[in-house]
Amino acid sequence: MGKTEKYDHMKLIRQYAGGHKNLMVLGRCLAAVSAVLTLIPYYELWKIIRTAVNGENPNKIKFYAWTAVGLIIGALFVYILALLCMHISAFRVQANMRSALMRRILTLPLGVFDEDGTGKIRRIVNDSTAATETYIAHTLADKTVAAVTPIGMLVLVFAFNWKIGLICMIPALIGFTCLMAMMGKGMQEKMKEYQDALETMSSEATEYVRGVPVVKTFGQTVHSFKRFKACIDGFGKWATDYTLMLRFPMAGFMTCINAIFAFIVIAAFVVTKDGVDNASILNIMYYIIITPLITVALTKIAYSGEAEMNLIDALKRVDRIMEIEPLEEKKSGQMPKDCGIDLKNVTYRYKEASRDAVSNVSISIMPGEHVALVGPSGSGKTTLAELMVRFFDVTSGEILIGGVNVKNISSAKLMEQVSFVFQDSRLIKKSILENVRMAKPDASEEQVLEALKKAQCMDIIEKLPDGIHTVIGEKGTYLSGGEQQRITIARAVLKDAPILILDETTAFADPDNETKVQAAFEELSKDKTLIMIAHRLSTVMNADRIFVMDDGKCIESGNHDELMKKNGLYKHMFDEYTRSIEWKVGA
Ligand code: ADP
Ligand code: MG
Repeated sequence: MGKTEKYDHMKLIRQYAGGHKNLMVLGRCLAAVSAVLTLIPYYELWKIIRTAVNGENPNKIKFYAWTAVGLIIGALFVYILALLCMHISAFRVQANMRSALMRRILTLPLGVFDEDGTGKIRRIVNDSTAATETYIAHTLADKTVAAVTPIGMLVLVFAFNWKIGLICMIPALIGFTCLMAMMGKGMQEKMKEYQDALETMSSEATEYVRGVPVVKTFGQTVHSFKRFKACIDGFGKWATDYTLMLRFPMAGFMTCINAIFAFIVIAAFVVTKDGVDNASILNIMYYIIITPLITVALTKIAYSGEAEMNLIDALKRVDRIMEIEPLEEKKSGQMPKDCGIDLKNVTYRYKEASRDAVSNVSISIMPGEHVALVGPSGSGKTTLAELMVRFFDVTSGEILIGGVNVKNISSAKLMEQVSFVFQDSRLIKKSILENVRMAKPDASEEQVLEALKKAQCMDIIEKLPDGIHTVIGEKGTYLSGGEQQRITIARAVLKDAPILILDETTAFADPDNETKVQAAFEELSKDKTLIMIAHRLSTVMNADRIFVMDDGKCIESGNHDELMKKNGLYKHMFDEYTRSIEWKVGA
């Protein structure tokens, strides 16, 4: 943590800027020039006051005034040029960052993109790169100005009357010390806490909104969302602590930068103690005009410091994605010999989990065999299925497809071999045609229709205004969960891969839908190796073999009759299931 001060954000930015880094340097130089040009009119101002106080030729005043106006317009023009350079480089950096991120994301294990992960990644790709863009486009130029201005100001303040200058600098110095105290140690850490808190609150809020139907149905209150409430409370406490921590330095800073005027009064007494003359009036008036500049400059420094911490935090988040290990991809991938699957002592533990989700599972599935995975919720069925398609790599053990370790099969080849319909297979906001075609981009419309027919989707299509050209999620065309699933099955039908993995797909289907989904599955799984995870045991009874999972282990296997004879967990589950059916019929 102590290393945060060493973080070289500019080096990173320069890397992302590529060829545009010189433009960034040019932009900063122009900003510096503009800062100097902005200060010179104050010298003209001094000359104007001098002319007025000494009662000299008024034409001179006009000349000085126009010179000042000219300089200010010039400064403005140069500053606009600087901003232009900074904006062009900023957009370039943002574009480069985003494409680097997207390239990286494409290589990441599919397991990274669970619901939680997707939101975080989206936030980083959008927000963190946008924060970087804002920093370069706006803050960086201001930061250069904030660095140049104090030097120029010191010259302006001390050049005319060092006594007044010195007195005016006292509050500025104290204010600066307060500022440094605020920026000091722990601040970067605080900024991270702040961003983290925002992230947690936003994901908990989403969770809460999703849960509103449940809350309403069961007459509960927001307090049932303990985590949501806890994170809001936590943030409230954090904000209070943070404010209290900064109360003294912030009050000090604000008081000092606004107290400079009071010090001019003191300075006026000091310089006029031996009588008032033109020179002292001139100087006092001049200092009254110039000292607000000090306030502006210090405020600018304060804000650019804060923006910089924001930037560092954003860059670190980007790094976090760039640091996720991509799946190792063998260049010369081997070809699976057939479509059998062998799991040898497979163990998997999720990152940051305290126990294995799958532990020491050995299963051998013959080509063309239909197997089912059953077991209580949380027993590791989904994880096991996801491991087979390399959502992530096993912690230990081996997974072979067609006799070849999945790590040695190129991901394109692996995806050709396997289709999966997972619980949360989602459709994208495109037409049904395009959604199904994702499985095989060169498929003709007839082929897509054929697949939809096999997947029992025709009743869905007939309902839709534009048939298969209807865009899902637009103009009120939404599909039910079961209907979406049938469309994803059509996708799998079109893909026609030799291995098929289906996860708990009938779990939320209504009876009518379930019959159709069932028929679609049968059509889909003909002549294929099938791994099916199902809640309803009626659907797995016909499987060639059933593997019973419990607590990450495979504890029983065999066909339905064999397992019933064993009188173990399967029989227990099946009896429960039969009872629930009887109960339904009885009701
Ligand atoms: P099933 O599909 O049998 O219900 P899962 O494979 O989904 O079981 O989960 C097995 C175990 O792994 C559970 O204890 C679950 O809490 C845990 N688990 C599942 N997904 C994740 C994840 N993304 N991160 C951490 N733990 C997970
Ligand atoms: Mg599951």
